[in-house]
Amino acid sequence: MNVEDFLLLETQLTDEERLIRDTVQKYVTKEVLPLMESSYEAGEFPRQFIKQTAELGLLGLTLPSEYGGAEASSVSYGLVCRELERGDSGLRSFVSVQSSLCMYPIFRFGSEEQRQKYLPKMAAGELIGCFGLTEPDAGSDPSSMRTTAKKVDGGYRLNGAKMWITNAPFADLAIVWAKTEDGIRGFIVERDFDGFSTPEIKHKLSLRASCTGEIVLEDVFVPDANLLPGSERGLSAPLSCLTQARFGIAWGAMGAAEACFDIATEYLINRKQFNKPLAGFQLVQAELAEMFSEITKAHCLNLQLGRLKDQDKATHVMVSMAKRNGCHHALDIARRCRNLLGGNGISLEYHVIRHMTNLESVFTYEGTHNVHTLTLGRHITGLNAFA
Ligand code: FAD
Repeated sequence: MNVEDFLLLETQLTDEERLIRDTVQKYVTKEVLPLMESSYEAGEFPRQFIKQTAELGLLGLTLPSEYGGAEASSVSYGLVCRELERGDSGLRSFVSVQSSLCMYPIFRFGSEEQRQKYLPKMAAGELIGCFGLTEPDAGSDPSSMRTTAKKVDGGYRLNGAKMWITNAPFADLAIVWAKTEDGIRGFIVERDFDGFSTPEIKHKLSLRASCTGEIVLEDVFVPDANLLPGSERGLSAPLSCLTQARFGIAWGAMGAAEACFDIATEYLINRKQFNKPLAGFQLVQAELAEMFSEITKAHCLNLQLGRLKDQDKATHVMVSMAKRNGCHHALDIARRCRNLLGGNGISLEYHVIRHMTNLESVFTYEGTHNVHTLTLGRHITGLNAFA
């Protein structure tokens, strides 16, 4: 079932947006889906995705061409996230982190030298980044971070630890947020700086095909040239990066939901119990109607948000609403589909359980459901209920 056709949303996309979406959809069907069952089981991120997504121009998609970007619209970026996550949330996470959490801060807060040095290579997939904000004792409240950057001759000494960092074990550089005497600042920490290490986090039962690690900083000397000069606005700098990434997550989560919905619909039409297709039972149709409606509504929200973002009118509160809505409904839809597939629903062969367990992480990272609820609550009431 093509959800875009239902409210004729397809007609609202430009030719370029349709072309980008269709290209990524074909790529995911041909190159990604055949690998996901085994990669997920093995707990490995297929490294060939790096070169492939770079060649498709998906890394830094919205950035100016002089830095290797494709100058595509925000809606295009959203569509790309949706198609990639139809494949696997781990692949979309890789692209989100590289584009929104690493290339974006270098573009937005970096010097011209930093942009020239890193961005074209990152767009080409020759340099991979990770984003270190979360710490073992600072998640939803990043202002309580303990990582410090002490000013020394010619640079800074960084000490601390970051936790749950996507791409960290194989990243060539990390955007690390640390407390200086002047507040929280961002630093580009390169892999070969002494005292920098990124042990992998094992035993995950979610996002298994995404590589997650810690960042350990032991007296790491970071030269002045690697401080992001525009990050002097404290926590608002890393939060603005998260707003970029959350926009893509709102779309991406719906890609995973649609994959589950399509698989379940086909399964229910073909599987017979009590001498008729399961899709012919009223209780089953009620589930399908509910899921179809939520996917359609989320597309409307995401598309409008994308258009506003392209006009520079999207706020972080709007993005919170879309991330919260997308993740909540995507996880709910994946769980419903898992149930509707019966015993087959727990087999990796049918993909739904993989999406379902992935979405548990997507629901939690980049601001949990509760955190986005509180953001909306503060917007509505003017009262801060965070602390
Ligand atoms: P906590 O903040 O301890 O929250 C635990 C629970 O308490 C949650 O349900 C939360 O909603 C709730 N809670 C917290 N505060 C409140 C409150 N005031 N009111 C009500 N409820 C509250 N981080 C990075 O920096 N970079 C990455 O690349 C990255 N990748 C990740 C990849 C994965 C697979 C995962 C799982 C996480 C990743 N994260 C990353 C970290 C992620 O952003 C955090 O896990 C998330 O922000 C939640 O923080 P926490 O885990 O410390 O949970």
